[in-house]
Amino acid sequence: MVNDVTVLGAGIVGISTGLSLLERGLNVRLIDRDDPGQATSFGNAGVISPWSIVPQSMPGLWKKIPGWLIDPLGPVTVRPGHLPRMLPWGLRFLAYGREDKVRDISAAMEMLNRDCVSLYRQHLAGTGHEDLIRDSHYIHAFRDGRAARLDSLENELRRGAGAELDRVDGEELRQLEPALSEDFEAAIVIKGQARAISPGRLGQVLSDKFRRQGGELLRATVQSIHPLEQGGWSCITDQGSYQVPKLVLAMGVWSAELLKPLGIRIPLQSERGYHINFSAPGITLNNSVMDVDNKFVASTMEQGLRVAGTAEFAGLDSPVNEKRLAALIQVAGRLSPHLRTDDYSTWSGQRPSLPDSLPCIGEIDGFPDLITAFGHSHYGLMMAAKTGRIVADIATGATPNVDLSSFSPTRF
Ligand SMILES: Cc1cc2nc3c(=O)[nH]c(=O)nc-3n(C[C@H](O)[C@H](O)[C@H](O)COP(=O)(O)OP(=O)(O)OC[C@H]3O[C@@H](n4cnc5c(N)ncnc54)[C@H](O)[C@@H]3O)c2cc1C
Repeated sequence: MVNDVTVLGAGIVGISTGLSLLERGLNVRLIDRDDPGQATSFGNAGVISPWSIVPQSMPGLWKKIPGWLIDPLGPVTVRPGHLPRMLPWGLRFLAYGREDKVRDISAAMEMLNRDCVSLYRQHLAGTGHEDLIRDSHYIHAFRDGRAARLDSLENELRRGAGAELDRVDGEELRQLEPALSEDFEAAIVIKGQARAISPGRLGQVLSDKFRRQGGELLRATVQSIHPLEQGGWSCITDQGSYQVPKLVLAMGVWSAELLKPLGIRIPLQSERGYHINFSAPGITLNNSVMDVDNKFVASTMEQGLRVAGTAEFAGLDSPVNEKRLAALIQVAGRLSPHLRTDDYSTWSGQRPSLPDSLPCIGEIDGFPDLITAFGHSHYGLMMAAKTGRIVADIATGATPNVDLSSFSPTRF
């Protein structure tokens, strides 16, 4: 056994974990079947925010879901054939929307997000690509000004954690973002965060750093993992099998399948999202902007204007749904009368989603030396760096100075 730790999956979570393990002086191998950082971590909206601490399931959400489901342009869809498998997960998801639970979950999210901007800047320092992360507001824009409320539960949670928020009217909004449609009557401006201007290149740059610092990157498809009697794990791939002292499972939405043969069941759902990249949009945004009515986030990136969103529950192996892409293009057009939508490319990826919006981080009872680091749903970019630090603590036997019970893989 040569390597101290083998990390399965080189998405942004696996890469960040690899870097943190190297910082502790360990020998680290990262295994991925593709180029690092080019799956779900490639196509996200780039929001890196200490204040994205509002879980997906909130009080009263259940009232909105039927309307969303029947609206072809709505932000959520469930493929009918997937409904029976989706239903138990959906009920559990809604049960986490009670206010007392929301407050606990939000506190756990806050712990993972708190230092996200500075941790990324530390990882990027000295790479020559420090500008991949830019300071940014997160602007939540509303067409009905009455809905832009500082006293909503979500903004109360943010302010309670120390966020600086402003409510602005339409005119002030267009001073910040001149390109936005006059249909937006008001916005909540969340200050003090950052945005990635190319999440895919961020993964590339950080995985290059991992390699330069002595980490090993192996391209292979992981087929199964097995605990060894003498301790450690055997990892079977299409390029051969490896006996390793410690494994970190960071394969995003594909992680739960690997655990099933060991009798470990995790309620991980694939929540497919889409983005459209308008390469000659004719407009520029200065910040990350959420169209709250249509639930997508728009951001000017290196390759143009990226509009990312939608939640499609259709099962892990379901194909891309062209109707969702068409719907996203249509609602994106409402962002600005000046947006040119003729030249675009599309992308789709699968968020690894658990019913309580929190990831699995930590060991599983009865399976020593296997550390989970997956299930970051809508927040994996921003939560990756801290997740990596925590995994490095666990792998080196240091006590993480945070309560990890909310992230226990066996909490369900
Ligand atoms: C539309 C959209 C917008 C989003 N916006 C944001 C945002 O603004 N901010 C934010 O923080 N988060 C956002 N997210 C969520 C974020 O992108 C994810 O949570 C994050 O990318 C998950 O990272 P990961 O490393 O866990 O998974 P992935 O990036 O999916 O990485 C998993 C890796 O495992 C590899 N793998 C899988 N199976 C195998 C196998 N058998 N063998 C070998 N390798 C394997 C894959 O190739 C992949 O590289 C968004 C997501 C979507 C879809």
